[in-house]
Amino acid sequence: MDNSLDKRTILIVDDMPINIQVLAGSLKSEYQIKIATSGGTALKIARSEQPPDLILLDIMMPEMDGYEVLRQLKERASTQNIPVIFVSAKGEVEDETRGLGMGAVDYITKPFHQPIVQARVKTQMNLIQKTEILEQLVSLDGLTSIPNRRRFDDVFEKEWRRARRVSHPLSLIMIDIDYFKAFNDKYGHAVGDDCLKFVAMRLTTLVNRGGDLVARYGGEEFAVVLPETNADNANLMSERFRESIESLKIPHLTSPVADHVTLSAGSATIIPTSNENHLTLIRAADKMLYEAKSAGRNQCKFIDLSDDAETRDGDESVELHGRANADPS
Ligand code: GH3
Ligand code: MG
Ligand code: MG
Repeated sequence: MDNSLDKRTILIVDDMPINIQVLAGSLKSEYQIKIATSGGTALKIARSEQPPDLILLDIMMPEMDGYEVLRQLKERASTQNIPVIFVSAKGEVEDETRGLGMGAVDYITKPFHQPIVQARVKTQMNLIQKTEILEQLVSLDGLTSIPNRRRFDDVFEKEWRRARRVSHPLSLIMIDIDYFKAFNDKYGHAVGDDCLKFVAMRLTTLVNRGGDLVARYGGEEFAVVLPETNADNANLMSERFRESIESLKIPHLTSPVADHVTLSAGSATIIPTSNENHLTLIRAADKMLYEAKSAGRNQCKFIDLSDDAETRDGDESVELHGRANADPS
């Protein structure tokens, strides 16, 4: 079976095909190999849609040497974290010091011994995997295992910029469980935690487009980012969330609005311009959530800001109730 898709990718850069052959020969059973015989080609591959996990980089090459390739890799955010191991015939202490000083993760001198190259490459691959696991962990909420506030902030700002660039609508839903303090008081904090897990899980299963994100915004509050979604559809999604949580029928006998757990949701839709920033949308959705609460809870409110881009001249055009910046509990 071909499992090359699961394999890590190594880019071998060397102007001498024989060196590439030897290196590739000792690594190809474990890794997918890409090759470049010049610095320019190496940079092109590193900046492509499918960058390598690791680069083995020769130093002495005509036109662009390995130091320059590394310098240019470090210059761009998209390539600066790709680990680079220098593999060079330049064996002086100064060469190695310079290479490591520029940010190479390791330095192997030629002629190299294959087992040593294999072992050092493996060490780097293990580090890459650990880093990926840590990155995953810091973006997930510890209780519910769905994306956390930090991840929300990242994704939301990115989607904001993208929507502004292409002048497409972006929607945001803020969701808050009704009378959750009373739920905790009645059933205990541990059952409260379980309830949050159920709700998070259910909300997550209701979004089905790749770019959508359901995150725990804080406490018993969730935020949903919906790119390319107009106000009507955002409101439909809110209703879907509300109905679905209601249908779980999680008992909540001390809730004044129902005998089971319910939620309120506020959504807002905008076609972002450079006149305002992403907080505009958070504040607007938050305001709608507040209105849903004030109107009796267990309901959804929405606002469509996507038609009045010309009349918006800043954050102040959306009246605020001051929660968007507050630290979630
Ligand atoms: P409202 O309908 O206005 O939203 O009322 P509420 O009681 O839900 O709102 P309030 O903000 O007064 O209380 C939120 C409660 O959520 C209080 C807090 O203890 C609880 N909560 C927040 N995070 C957690 C958590 O991780 N686990 C549990 N069990 N409860 C939590
Ligand atoms: Mg609440
Ligand atoms: Mg709350």
